[in-house]
Amino acid sequence: MAYRITLIPGDGIGPEVTEAARRVLDASGVKIEWEVVEAGEKVMGQYGTPLPDHVLESVKRNKVALKGPITTPVGTGFRSVNVALRQALNLYANVRPVKSYEGVPSRYTNVDLIIVRENTEDLYAGIEYMAGDDAAVGVKIITRKASERIVRYAFELARREKRRKVTAVHKANIQKLTDGLFLECARKVAQDYPDIEFEDMIVDAMSMKLVQSPENYDVLVMPNMYGDILSDLAAGLVGGLGLAPGANIGEDGAVFEPIHGSAPKRAGQNLANPTATILSGVMMLRYLGELEAADRVEKAVAKVIKEGKEVTYDLGGSTGTKEFADAVIREMERI
Ligand code: NAD
Repeated sequence: MAYRITLIPGDGIGPEVTEAARRVLDASGVKIEWEVVEAGEKVMGQYGTPLPDHVLESVKRNKVALKGPITTPVGTGFRSVNVALRQALNLYANVRPVKSYEGVPSRYTNVDLIIVRENTEDLYAGIEYMAGDDAAVGVKIITRKASERIVRYAFELARREKRRKVTAVHKANIQKLTDGLFLECARKVAQDYPDIEFEDMIVDAMSMKLVQSPENYDVLVMPNMYGDILSDLAAGLVGGLGLAPGANIGEDGAVFEPIHGSAPKRAGQNLANPTATILSGVMMLRYLGELEAADRVEKAVAKVIKEGKEVTYDLGGSTGTKEFADAVIREMERI
């Protein structure tokens, strides 16, 4: 039987990278019936909202979605569709693996870490207000429930993937109550996993250490905002945003998406690297239990990148989005 999966193409380069990923996933042999629904800037005029109800309903019904990036206006305008989707579906764990691929021009060759970011609260709860004309206040929410849940998720992931260490990242020296509570929860949950090494680190020191010696880290778990920032930093360590996949996981479903944005300047030109979206699809196949197909897609992507003859501009090549997907599909046929 085919899996029924929601596909949200998104804005900017989204339609191009999701189409490339869809073709690669279809060629993996796993039967998928895609339910394509549109969200983002382009549907604002039609529905008066970037996240129409039928999009949420589709993801709730199918429980699994592949999503392209969606533009969020800076400073003013509508709230992030991405944040709204994660909150509405309670997709509490944002999992962002960062891995070196051979052949990618980059300063490091031995990075293999997973960032686990709390996805529902912290400064992303969206509570901001003006205190008079000249001061703005943002509310940072950290709860025991969400903190324990995300740290437990990180340890379970570490166990499943045979990882050796979990590092909790925080700023509890300054944010004594909020990050202090997160750290207290992390220490408590860590006691249930004596087989996995545990340490904690202040986010500024973590940033330096990641740049200095990323190979020393394995699974990193942190509140929402630090996770957003450090996962882009980590993507930069291995060759950029075009390579970094992500998953938003909840108890009742999951949305897979690249960590990059809609890159409006590159939109519609067949230039964007679809690797991050294809690898998000690989995470989706693993989530569905289609391990063999997932391995085949990942190996084919790694081979095309290693050969370096048919790669996109960000990896030093001149191959288009569509043609990169063609090369991956050809390679899959050989494996
Ligand atoms: P961006 O990720 O779109 O772009 C940053 C840089 O990376 C640009 O130079 C871009 O050309 C490059 N880049 C990104 N993806 C690439 C790819 N696949 N191949 C090659 N190069 C790639 O970040 P931004 O410019 O800060 O954001 C643009 C819009 O995307 C904003 O509206 C932002 O809110 C939104 N955004 C959405 C998501 C999401 O949907 N999950 C995530 C991040 C940003």
